[in-house]
Amino acid sequence: MQITALAGGIGGARFLTGVLHYLDQTTESHDVTVIGNTGDDIWVHGLRVCPDLDTVMYTLGGGIDTERGWGRQDETFRAKEELAAYGVEPTWFGLGDRDIGTHLVRTASLNAGFPLSSVTAALCERWQPGVRLLPMSDDRAETHVLIDDPNNPDNQIAIHFQEWWIKHRAQIPARGFAIVGIENAAPGPGVVEAIAGADVIVFPPSNPIVSIGTILAVPGIRDAIISADAKVVGVSPIISGAPVRGMADACLSAEGIDTTTQAVAAHYGARSAGGLLDGWLVDTSDEASVAAITATGIRCRAIPLLMTDVAATAVMVEEALDLIATSPNAG
Ligand code: GDP
Ligand code: CA
Repeated sequence: MQITALAGGIGGARFLTGVLHYLDQTTESHDVTVIGNTGDDIWVHGLRVCPDLDTVMYTLGGGIDTERGWGRQDETFRAKEELAAYGVEPTWFGLGDRDIGTHLVRTASLNAGFPLSSVTAALCERWQPGVRLLPMSDDRAETHVLIDDPNNPDNQIAIHFQEWWIKHRAQIPARGFAIVGIENAAPGPGVVEAIAGADVIVFPPSNPIVSIGTILAVPGIRDAIISADAKVVGVSPIISGAPVRGMADACLSAEGIDTTTQAVAAHYGARSAGGLLDGWLVDTSDEASVAAITATGIRCRAIPLLMTDVAATAVMVEEALDLIATSPNAG
């Protein structure tokens, strides 16, 4: 079974641990490809940082700080302190000392002319994440947030997504998102093939706008999913009208989407109506929205969606696969 998943950072990575745990229990041979979001990537102090790729790589490779959900375990921040002592910006970005090792290898390899996809594959040789991790694109396309210009109310300015998300904790109202460079970005090597050749395509509970939405914005990826033979199943990151973690509500409202599982399902849309989803899992607390989502042509089921541990997450994976495997009326 060939599973292809799109993934942001922590929500995607945690879900993927469940995918691998579930597959380990089955006898069927399997192959998991992850298309990672690179819209969050940023140059910091001369280093190329790819937060979502690293979160997936460290999580699946056993190197993540599980408490924080990002960065390396047993981390120290001496280099960051030194940089702050020099007064150089940005001071808000969480550059850990161990993590810097990864960024140095990546940056040197990129500077030597290797594409991000090759560099990522090389980094994964150390971490052995158990999946094939493909950047959505080798081209630079970074998410920026449109906010009101503090110096001129008639104007809007764009700041890097990381500045809005980390420095401002998404507290400044976002008027929209602009992925700078996306029009000219091409899907990375193997991305379209992994979608076309998949038996199942999965949207983990990643941020629908700045993680999954960014991947879908790479020209060619959305169309590849729509025309794929595989069924597409998604897992809601929104439970009881709120994100489980993080500020996805601020991203959804910037796009005029309610922070409800039903609105996110409608945003992706039913495959049968030109959208993306064949199936959508909602949390038990959102049972009341199952009928309305089903009525739009998306198979829907309510189950516990909190990824409390890998076993609970593996049950979510089993349910997701079952939802799209059974006949349309069985959901
Ligand atoms: P990021 O790039 O690190 O922000 O991570 P993602 O985009 O992959 O995932 C972020 C999303 O994961 C958030 O919108 C959360 O609501 C969602 N999330 C985190 N933990 C859980 C969980 O236990 N269950 C569900 N259903 N969603 C979760
Ligand atoms: Ca991210």
